[in-house]
Amino acid sequence: MKEKLYTIELHDALQAGDECPFCWLERKLEQSAIEFVLGSSYMESDTRDATDRQGFCRKHTKMMFDYGNTLGNAWILKTRLTYVREKLKKEMQEYTPGAAPKRGLFKKKPENGNSVAEWIRGEESHCYICKRMDDTYRRMVDTFVYQVKHEPEFVDMVKASKGFCVHHFADLVEACGEGLSQKEQEQLFPVLFDQMNRELDRMQGDIDWMIEKFDYVNKDKDWKNSKDAVQRTMQKIVGGYPADPVFRDKK
Ligand SMILES: [Zn+2]
Ligand SMILES: [Zn+2]
Repeated sequence: MKEKLYTIELHDALQAGDECPFCWLERKLEQSAIEFVLGSSYMESDTRDATDRQGFCRKHTKMMFDYGNTLGNAWILKTRLTYVREKLKKEMQEYTPGAAPKRGLFKKKPENGNSVAEWIRGEESHCYICKRMDDTYRRMVDTFVYQVKHEPEFVDMVKASKGFCVHHFADLVEACGEGLSQKEQEQLFPVLFDQMNRELDRMQGDIDWMIEKFDYVNKDKDWKNSKDAVQRTMQKIVGGYPADPVFRDKK
């Protein structure tokens, strides 16, 4: 494996006591990407060329607004807007109602035949921050596979954790299916699947008890682990941290 390994980061994430180590890592990656984009990097021409071309998805646009660097956002928007304005103008100029779309040879034919809509949707399919996070996240998942192969104690560390959210579990089982030998898979998958069943059962217990707690007869009973069961169950099923405060510039 030539790429950088994220062993320390992965160990920290597994030992963080979180509902999912990959949610935990993803949050760190996301916050550092926001800090990077709205730090001083937006004045560097390479970064701005990339943000002009790739743009930002709706989720990250909102995060950038909340982060709070107004001047930084304005600089990024100024040239991204120029890019969108010029490209969209050209797309609209070239559009002829009813005509078959004139596209490059290798471009997929738009399904509804509307090249303007196709261009806009294409722009919405990429995001500078998503991409920046995703490249590292993929290597972190690869590090998991590498660790399973090369570090015997690693699986014990996984067993001692609270497992994974269902969302990230898809990436994990896929990567393990591709990167591990038949024998390694036969050893690992029962461990991962048992853990997933056990952890989802635990979550079910927490969310069930939260509802019971709203019953008057249980009002004086202990909350057990159910006080934050809503946000943890949301995380366990779809990933992410719904209860996180807004991420803001600390300066
Ligand atoms: Zn997760
Ligand atoms: Zn994004």
